[in-house]
Amino acid sequence: MKKHYSLAALLFVLGSFQAFSQNLVIKGGWVFDTSSKSFQKNSGIYIEDGLFGEEKGASDREVLNLSDEDYVLPGLIDLHAHYRVSYEGKAFDDTVAMPKIFLANGITSTFPAGEIEPEKMWDLQQKIDAGNLTGPRILHSGPYYGSAAPDWNPEFSEQDIRDRVDYWAERGAYGFKAKGITKAHLAILIDQAHKHNLTVTGHLDSGFKNSVNPQDAIKMGIDRVEHFLGGDLLVATTSAYNSLKDLDPADLRLEEIIQLYIKNGVYFDATLGTYGAIGLIDSPIFEDWAEENQYFTSFTKNVIKNVKPSAFNELCALIYPVKQGVLKRYYDAGGLITVGTDRPLLLDNYLGGGIGGFFIHREMAAMVEVGIPAAEVLYFATQQNAEAFGIADRAGSISPGKWGDVMIIKGNPLEDINRTRSVHTVVKGGEIYSSAELKKAAKGKLGPEN
Ligand SMILES: [Zn+2]
Repeated sequence: MKKHYSLAALLFVLGSFQAFSQNLVIKGGWVFDTSSKSFQKNSGIYIEDGLFGEEKGASDREVLNLSDEDYVLPGLIDLHAHYRVSYEGKAFDDTVAMPKIFLANGITSTFPAGEIEPEKMWDLQQKIDAGNLTGPRILHSGPYYGSAAPDWNPEFSEQDIRDRVDYWAERGAYGFKAKGITKAHLAILIDQAHKHNLTVTGHLDSGFKNSVNPQDAIKMGIDRVEHFLGGDLLVATTSAYNSLKDLDPADLRLEEIIQLYIKNGVYFDATLGTYGAIGLIDSPIFEDWAEENQYFTSFTKNVIKNVKPSAFNELCALIYPVKQGVLKRYYDAGGLITVGTDRPLLLDNYLGGGIGGFFIHREMAAMVEVGIPAAEVLYFATQQNAEAFGIADRAGSISPGKWGDVMIIKGNPLEDINRTRSVHTVVKGGEIYSSAELKKAAKGKLGPEN
């Protein structure tokens, strides 16, 4: 990993997102074309000043030669990428191991989906952009909007919420996330975020206990929805989790809510895989293929060893097949899908195995398992995520002018989606990273020390 301190320092002062760069050409192998959703022979990927360019650009290029077994994809975008760790009721954002694990897995852009320590995440981004720390791009969410934020006050006035949006938008937030929000507060959040051309997503609920059902949020203009499609099938007399377990994905009334998403162009992030992992579903998708235990501190390993499964794990085991059926039906109807992992490290609960960065490969495999073609899933995790998030001018495909971000894997993932697990090289802004080195640097570092 080369460092370009003088340039980095200069760009840090200028406040540019792209801090260091080198001119690079990637030759050989195959490359994912997001317009045809297929792999083509790589005729040369050119990167200069951190962005994809064209052959006629710079003459002094570093050359990265690939073999016929190498498959290049645009860097993955994780739209539900928690950095959060919590233990004994205390939560913090991990800026040591999580960033390296995300990047090692080919995820070059992350939306933290509600930051516990927004100032610390801001600092992390500054250091990553300056080349002083290693990690993916942090597409700031700022703090949560709703009771999930440690500093949330249910008595916030309309002006308080507008000011909070303005403050984080001006700091450089890329979008916002609501969780535990009321209808009145959500309407203000959406209105104010849209004034800054920023999107809003939400972890909503059934309407139970003053929560917001996604169908109401869609009518308010929300851009994306996490976890639950919502609708009248999720009854307000119980939580979304409880009512979801009894839902029949074949129920005709599901069509109404699906059509509401389609009509309004709202994206749905099912976070399907995490329910399978928490539900301790026995499937090769959830097996521990990366020996993830080695990334935890010894203290954390001990904590995990002693956490016992609870009723929540049993509930998620019931929810998982329902979510599978709902997602397939939504896809078949033409619903817009995004990809996010939703794997905070919550040591007070037993969430099954799977650290955020590694988990994106499980999420994609889980989508393919329900019958969504692999080419579509790869498109969702790249170009479609960029469109849903409003950054398609900068990310999502290997096109001139976009961020020079790719991941390189072994073997064609259209034949076996599990091949995305084989990321060996990641390029971010023209800088080349070895996946193995990133992982080595993260080992033993995730979670509290004591
Ligand atoms: Zn989440």
